[in-house]
Amino acid sequence: MDEARWTRIFEDKAKKMRKQDSWQLEFDEDIVPNRPNYGWKQCVRNTCARFKCTSCGRGWSSNRVMVLFHMQLRNMRGTIKIRPLYQKCKNCSEGPMEKPSIETGSIYVLMENLVEKIREKCYHENTGPKFRHFKSYDGNNPHEPAHCQGCKLGICKRS
Ligand SMILES: [Zn+2]
Ligand SMILES: [Zn+2]
Repeated sequence: MDEARWTRIFEDKAKKMRKQDSWQLEFDEDIVPNRPNYGWKQCVRNTCARFKCTSCGRGWSSNRVMVLFHMQLRNMRGTIKIRPLYQKCKNCSEGPMEKPSIETGSIYVLMENLVEKIREKCYHENTGPKFRHFKSYDGNNPHEPAHCQGCKLGICKRS
């Protein structure tokens, strides 16, 4: 996962935040849905992504890819932990769970929504109604709960 790119986009979107606190992003595979550490807030967003099976080379795209965020603001320092949830190939029963590849445009939407969540949850601002949505991929592959980490963890949204 390209941490520098995510951070750059986040910093661009974070200009909307009033406060002068400093925020830092880090990817963390170990955060658990619905069990943020004490004092941390959670946010789950849906995005679209592409995947590639490292076992057979098959590629697929999905419009239901969950990204889990845990965030905390303390002593003017904010931390955001990010865990994009994996999927695995439906053709390879023994294939590994694969990392999503998320396009820059979708990261922009994710970060914009994340900044709104931070403003609501950490700064108690009312950010008003939201209409933004990621640009989904054409060709609707059926979602495969057995091959989706988000479904296994119980945070995958039904469409
Ligand atoms: Zn495969
Ligand atoms: Zn799912």
